[in-house]
Amino acid sequence: MRQPTMAESFPTIRQTPSTERHLMSLNDLAIDVPDAAAAAAAAELRAALGDRVLFPGDPGFDAARTPWNVAVDQYPFAVALPESADDVVDIVRAATLAGLRVAPQSTGHAAAAMAGADLSRTVLLSLRGLRGVQVDPDARTARVLGGSVWSDVLESAGPHGLTALHGSAADVSVVGYLLSGGLSFYARKRGLGVNCVRAVHVVTADGRLVHASAEENPDLFWALRGGSGAFGVVVSIEIELLPIADVFAGMLLWDASRAAEVTHAWAEWTRSAPESATTTLRIMNFPPLPQLPPFLSGRSVVVVDGAFEETDAAASALLEPLRALQPEMDTFARIPAPALVAVHMDPPEPTPAVTDHVMLAAFTTEAVDAFVAVGRTPGLFVQEIRHVGGAASRPSPDGGAVSSLVGEYVVHSIAMVPVPEAAPVASAAARAGVAAMEPWRIDAVALTFVDAPDVDLTGAFGQAWARLRQLKLQFDPADLFAAARPV
Ligand SMILES: Cc1cc2nc3c(=O)[nH]c(=O)nc-3n(C[C@H](O)[C@H](O)[C@H](O)COP(=O)(O)OP(=O)(O)OC[C@H]3O[C@@H](n4cnc5c(N)ncnc54)[C@H](O)[C@@H]3O)c2cc1C
Repeated sequence: MRQPTMAESFPTIRQTPSTERHLMSLNDLAIDVPDAAAAAAAAELRAALGDRVLFPGDPGFDAARTPWNVAVDQYPFAVALPESADDVVDIVRAATLAGLRVAPQSTGHAAAAMAGADLSRTVLLSLRGLRGVQVDPDARTARVLGGSVWSDVLESAGPHGLTALHGSAADVSVVGYLLSGGLSFYARKRGLGVNCVRAVHVVTADGRLVHASAEENPDLFWALRGGSGAFGVVVSIEIELLPIADVFAGMLLWDASRAAEVTHAWAEWTRSAPESATTTLRIMNFPPLPQLPPFLSGRSVVVVDGAFEETDAAASALLEPLRALQPEMDTFARIPAPALVAVHMDPPEPTPAVTDHVMLAAFTTEAVDAFVAVGRTPGLFVQEIRHVGGAASRPSPDGGAVSSLVGEYVVHSIAMVPVPEAAPVASAAARAGVAAMEPWRIDAVALTFVDAPDVDLTGAFGQAWARLRQLKLQFDPADLFAAARPV
């Protein structure tokens, strides 16, 4: 018997109920669409794209529309599956002619941010077939195809002693992460990931493949760095790599009964930590699950993890005040740079989750108390605080619409949705995690952590917002592109 897909198991946020659907026949293929106008659009797409487009009812449609965040049951008009830049051009042109919108998506890690969008007239342009990385070790750059994920880059760059400003998960896409800012364990010393983007090949709303860089189409290049998928479909991106072969990194772990003591100590420690240290603290509540290691199953713990761009001796000296709290586990050591992506232990496969975040200017004693108190809320999986500031908070003179983050800390609350019935409790728990920090919240947004529709994004752009809006009207006047973080 066929196993249900993850989306079938967790159909919690359904975007477009398929009611009153029409069946039309074209080239011997049955296409299940909602009305006659849609049937005409579907016929045009099928004629233009053949088997590069899937409709409801087609074999593979359900798998193709399922995002990484399987709590989101996104239901687009069709899913297009390009394998080349030319395919992307064809898809954008065909969708435009058919009067449809286009939503570029690489993995669906941010699918919840689009959960409010009506996709009934939108082609989901899934870039998961467009992966590949070419490293130029002498120039220390990589050309990365539009749907590639961070493990693709790290596997290619690592053998050359190079790495990149990747985030904590190996399977997040390079484009989706970088063009919304990108917060890495190198961030306090090296700034946001987006500032390492050198050039972008993008298919714009007029169906052209355009090269955008500081020299060519500089306005579009500026807008893409922050505006991301609201400005087009990125088919490849050129990024700078870092000459880092290994790094001092790891984690410290205590029982959650030590959460107050450890969190106060970490907060104090971050106030004077150098920019070479980027760390995170989490209170994690694990359900009792047989697939978890016994020391985590059914247990709450507090974890500090991160990376130090220091010698072993200097890093160990910096860690001393935290090690003095006698963690029951201490994995900090020098590791190959590509292994840093595993340190945060993000889930390695599609996961149903609800998340929310807030930015803080300071993690005061009272804020620590509130953070710890909410950390064990029933239904909350992770209450996390990432230390940012440093270079991450300094705008880059050559940057785009986003080049820095306002604030010193990001609080990120995560709840799992193991079964659809858990969705209300999970949403309430994630909301509670950030609501507890309300008195210290500042008017700022970390774009990559935006994971819900209807978030006011202006706090991510500040003064850049007006120019970004103007450029959106110039490059995409008909609002062809639907994006997780719309402009
Ligand atoms: C487990 C996990 C760990 C994470 N860790 C970090 C972290 O350490 N630091 C951090 O900053 N963020 C982190 N994030 C957030 C993540 O970086 C963002 O959600 C990011 O936008 C995901 O990109 P994606 O392409 O994988 O997701 P998608 O949902 O596929 O894409 C998100 C949006 O990016 C745009 N996009 C993606 N690909 C393209 C393309 N080729 N062309 C045009 N537009 C495109 C689209 O607008 C799309 O709506 C994490 C998220 C998760 C779930």
